Amino acid sequence: SKQAGRNRATFFSDEMGVEAKARDLVELQLKHAVENKEFTLHFQPRVSMRTGKVVSAEALVRWNHPQRGLIMPSEFIAICEETGLIEDLGQLVLELGCRQAITWHQTGLDIDLSLNISPRQFENQRLLQSLERFARHPDFPENKIELEITENVLIGDHDLIAEKLSTISKLGYRIAIDDFGTGYSNLSYISRFPLHCLKIDQSFISQLPKSGPIISLILTLGRQIGATIVAEGVESCEQLAWLRDHDCDEVQGYFLSPPVQAKNLPAMIQLLNLS
Ligand code: C2E
Ligand code: CA
Ligand code: CA
Ligand code: CA
Repeated sequence: SKQAGRNRATFFSDEMGVEAKARDLVELQLKHAVENKEFTLHFQPRVSMRTGKVVSAEALVRWNHPQRGLIMPSEFIAICEETGLIEDLGQLVLELGCRQAITWHQTGLDIDLSLNISPRQFENQRLLQSLERFARHPDFPENKIELEITENVLIGDHDLIAEKLSTISKLGYRIAIDDFGTGYSNLSYISRFPLHCLKIDQSFISQLPKSGPIISLILTLGRQIGATIVAEGVESCEQLAWLRDHDCDEVQGYFLSPPVQAKNLPAMIQLLNLS
């Protein structure tokens, strides 16, 4: 009815008023936080199925809030992406991550580093400039760094994207498709772009064994293009066994290790390499 409609309208506008104010506050705090570099990276190990050893780690950003403590990306990445703050945050993550990779390299910790690159960050010229600048340093381990992008980054001018990806790849960095299988782009990009790795989205892993046919398909596709296939969000022994039986290359997930602080990573790697 009309009355109900009006009530609903006022109800929603009140709600949105409160929500909008809360969001404005978060936005303001975030802007401040990016300026003050209140962010830190945690690292989640990735294990090779063939050798059982840790081969790399994914950097996952956390907001170190002065009052609230560590805040997870689900609370701020989307807002940063919408407001454009992600450009500065992404740059900060890139710098923190690369600094960490240099430290690992210098201390003889022989693992690769994966960094998440947001769509807006990928579009921005600054990314390529930074990657070029880093790679020019003689001691910089660019061939140990992988950039994770999602399929929606690949929607748009394919010629332009192909050129950018091949430039990045020629510099020595590797490219991974994150959350593979969940995007809306058509698959034609698979053979057009230089892709080194496909990360099967964790929703497929959590639905095993029902999702087995899809995962098998991704494994076949990945082998055809010579990409490394990583299963994300591995939470159980059964999932791990299924992935081993189907020759998945690498695994990542709570069953092996949660993301940990940089200072705890060497001990975690030692533990995983022994087991
Ligand atoms: P993602 O890139 O798909 O990262 C995997 C997420 O799954 C991480 O959540 C990780 O902690 C979590 N995870 C790992 N193993 C398991 C598991 O076994 N089960 C389950 N249920 N979850 C698992 P996190 O750290 O909260 O990050 C969430 C998302 O935020 C990331 O998803 C990524 O899209 C985004 N993100 C994180 N760090 C960055 C960053 O530095 N830059 C950008 N642009 N995005 C980031
Ligand atoms: Ca990722
Ligand atoms: Ca993912
Ligand atoms: Ca993701």
